[in-house]
Amino acid sequence: MGKWTAAAVPCSAEPLIFDEELCIGCNRCMNVCQVDIMIPDPEPGKHPVVLYPGECWYCGSCVMECPRPGAVRLQHPLMNRAKFVPVKG
Ligand code: SF4
Ligand code: SF4
Repeated sequence: MGKWTAAAVPCSAEPLIFDEELCIGCNRCMNVCQVDIMIPDPEPGKHPVVLYPGECWYCGSCVMECPRPGAVRLQHPLMNRAKFVPVKG
């Protein structure tokens, strides 16, 4: 069988950060994602590949489903982290 390749759709957001040491490659995070932004890594034991980073809803289901705390975490885009405060004066 031929070797396949897949490249992530270019996007400034990097919604998921995986910890290679903690992840066991079970793909539960991928299977629970309702918008299917990941595909399995062809190499067993590796975390899924995020193909469509810009489609993430930041719902957190993948993080909650992961059996290895810390193996995957969400990284919200900078714009979503902005805190708006009333202007004084
Ligand atoms: S945060 Fe939600 S939408 Fe984003 S990858 Fe995880 S499960 Fe999918
Ligand atoms: S659910 Fe957790 S341990 Fe399983 S593949 Fe995803 S990040 Fe790795």
